[in-house]
Amino acid sequence: MEEKFIDLIKEAGIVGAGGAGFPTHVKLNAQAEYIIVNGAECEPLLQVDQQLMAQKSEEILLALNKIVEETGAKKGIIALKGKYKKALENLNKKVVKYENLELFTLDNFYPAGDEQVTVYEVLKRIVPEGGIPLNVGVIVINVETLLNVYNAMNNIVVTDKYLTITGAVENPITEKVPIGILVKEAIELAGGTTIDEFGVIDGGPMMGKVIEDIQQPIKKNTKGLIVLPKNHPLLLSKDRSIESMLRQARSACCHCSLCTDVCPRNLLGHKLYPDKLMRLASYSSTCDVNTKATDAFLCSECGLCERVCIMGLQPWKLNKFLKAQLSGKGIKNPNKNTPKDTNLFREYRKFPVNKLKSRLGIEKYDVEAPIVEEDNKSFKWVVIDLQQHIGAKAEPVVCVGDQVSKGQLIADIPENKLGAKIHASINGIIKDITEKSIVIFNHNNEN
Ligand code: SF4
Ligand code: SF4
Repeated sequence: MEEKFIDLIKEAGIVGAGGAGFPTHVKLNAQAEYIIVNGAECEPLLQVDQQLMAQKSEEILLALNKIVEETGAKKGIIALKGKYKKALENLNKKVVKYENLELFTLDNFYPAGDEQVTVYEVLKRIVPEGGIPLNVGVIVINVETLLNVYNAMNNIVVTDKYLTITGAVENPITEKVPIGILVKEAIELAGGTTIDEFGVIDGGPMMGKVIEDIQQPIKKNTKGLIVLPKNHPLLLSKDRSIESMLRQARSACCHCSLCTDVCPRNLLGHKLYPDKLMRLASYSSTCDVNTKATDAFLCSECGLCERVCIMGLQPWKLNKFLKAQLSGKGIKNPNKNTPKDTNLFREYRKFPVNKLKSRLGIEKYDVEAPIVEEDNKSFKWVVIDLQQHIGAKAEPVVCVGDQVSKGQLIADIPENKLGAKIHASINGIIKDITEKSIVIFNHNNEN
C-alpha cells in the first residue's frame, strides 16, 4: 500500500470504531484479496452504521474504493442486512459506478456481524480457529471507521463519535458528539433518563459492558449507550459474579447442549463446545478427553449461549474467565485447525434477532433513534482518554495551560509501539494531564 495513504490514516488517529479499537493504519497495511465492510450492526437497538450507510453512502463507497485500490484487493464488498432498506437503496444507486465494489445482503440473525461469521456468509471461507480474517485473504472494516478514512482523505482527523443513545431516555437518538464528553452529558442529549434508578450499558445489549460511573468519557470506540432500569434482568445478569454462576451451574446445568447447538463458532466448525466446558468447570471432567480449558480461547463472547440456556447459565462468562486465567499464566491458544466444513445444521440454527430481543426483554426499547449532527453544540469540558485503542497508551505532546484547537494533535504514539494518535475534540485550554487522560476546558462556554 502506498505510504502516503497509510500515513493519512495514521495521522488521523483512526481506530476500529465499533469494537476493541485496533489501529486502522496497521490493519490496512496488509495485502488482502477482499475488503468486507461490516454493516451488519447485529446488536439490537444500536443504529449507527445502518444510518451512516443511508446518509453517507457516497463517502463510504469512495473510501472503500480507495482502500481496494491501495491494498490491491480484488473486490470491496459491503455486507449489510436486507432490513436496512434506506441504506440498501442509496448504496445500490451509487455502487454501480464502481467496478470493484458490490453489496451483499445478510439475513437478520445474531451475530451476523461477528467478523468470522460475516466472512463465511459473504465468501464461504472459514477463518481458522484462533485466526483472523486476513488468514483467508480478507480485511473486515467497520462502517464508521470507513467514514473516518474518507475524512482522513480530506485531511480531517478523528475528533467526533457517532453514538446511539437509547433505552429509558426521553428521546432516543443517534448523535455525533465530541470524543471526551461524559456519558452523563451524552444521556442528557437524549433528553435525560425517564427513570431515577438506572444502569447504562456501553455498547450493545449482548456484548456491551455495564458502565460503573456515568462521569466517564466517551471514547473513539464507544458505539452506544443503553439506559435500563437498575433491576432489569439484563443488567443483573451482566453483573453476576463468575463464582455465583458456577455455583449454580454445578446443580443446574443439565448438559442439554443447547448452548453448543447455537454457538456461532461451533457452527463454523471450530472445536468449541460450551456445554462441555461447563461440565469441565463444574466437575473437572467432561467424559471427553478432547475437551480442554484452552478451548475457551475460541469463544468470541457473543453471549448467545446464555440466551438459549433454560437455566440462565452463562457459558460465555466461564470462557472469558478461563481465557483470563490461562493468559495470566502465559498460556496461549493452542487450537489452530481450519475446519473443512461448517456444522451441517448451521443454516437452520441461525438465531433470529427478533427472538433475541424478546429473550433480552428489550422489545419496548426497540424504537427509532434518528441521527442528529449538530456541529455547533458546545461543551465546557472534555476528558480525552489516552488509551482508546489496542496497544500502548498515547503520550501527551501538550502541557497544562496550552491553548489547543479542535483537530490539533495532543497525544502521540510512543516510538516503535502499536497505538493511535489522539487529537483535541474541542477548542480550549489544557487544564489537566494525568496518567490516564488530558482535560480540555472550553473557556468560551459559560454554561
Ligand atoms: S444450555 Fe445451559 S443447561 Fe444446557 S448445557 Fe448449556 S449451560 Fe448447561
Ligand atoms: S459466547 Fe457462547 S455462543 Fe458465543 S462463541 Fe462463546 S460459547 Fe459460543
